[in-house]
Amino acid sequence: MEHWDEGVYMKRANRAPGGPPLILSCGVHGDELAPVQVLQQLLTELQSRSLLPARPCLVIFANLLALEEKRRFLRHNMNRLFGAPHRVLGYEGERVVALEQHCRDFAEMYGPGWHLDLHATIKPSRHPHFALRPHCADPQGARQYDPRWPATLAQAGFTALVQQNAPAHTFAHFSSSQLGFASFTLECGDIAGSDSQAAAPLERLLRPLLSAADLPGGPERLQVYQVTLDLIKQHPDFRFLVDEQGENFTPFPAGTPIARDGDTTILAPDGGCALLFANSNVPVGDRAGLLLSVIS
Ligand SMILES: [Zn+2]
Repeated sequence: MEHWDEGVYMKRANRAPGGPPLILSCGVHGDELAPVQVLQQLLTELQSRSLLPARPCLVIFANLLALEEKRRFLRHNMNRLFGAPHRVLGYEGERVVALEQHCRDFAEMYGPGWHLDLHATIKPSRHPHFALRPHCADPQGARQYDPRWPATLAQAGFTALVQQNAPAHTFAHFSSSQLGFASFTLECGDIAGSDSQAAAPLERLLRPLLSAADLPGGPERLQVYQVTLDLIKQHPDFRFLVDEQGENFTPFPAGTPIARDGDTTILAPDGGCALLFANSNVPVGDRAGLLLSVIS
């Protein structure tokens, strides 16, 4: 095990060259602790060689200062800083620059692979475990994703996949767009839920990914959603007209007034929508929520 940086560990494949390299990151938000505990356990097993990885792995605990304080972030939401054109000062900005470089170094050593950025939601979800796949501007980028990924996620207990429609400065978008990785943001239960419930699907996903040469796949299916609208907060008085505290993925029929932003009322589009990550308490210019439509 190589210790590349505080909270950054690299383990070579048990037998070279091994399968596609894997980046596992957690703690981008310092209050999302269940996935952090899972990765700490797996790291311990990798260090003691009781778990022998079939592929090179880079294990990252991202926002260490926020994790110490069990806070979402100190000054800046780290998942809005990756690949951003303007660097921000302070710990989170500097940490993002360092983590991007570690990922570039890892990709240079082993080529493109897989990145799972592990999170937990602020509130409960109709799909407690779900994946977000970052937007890819390059149509060829679709080829990065092994078609067995959805079934691999489903067999572990993830029940939904959200395809994002626009670039974002998330860790998963960075590794996907700049390093050519097949990347997902994985939401593993909500932060108030029990850690063991949150951890079970994640363990079922990560152990075979680490120890097997290939993606397991399986017969299970996921519900697939597409983001149809990023609700970007334009005015300080942005507010939801539906229950902001409702569960993630709550559906609304076409024409439902969803939110009010300045003089504009945002309505559920034709075909209706499901609401994800509703949060009006973000700075102007940030995302206050996502409207989704069901694809399959
Ligand atoms: Zn998060």
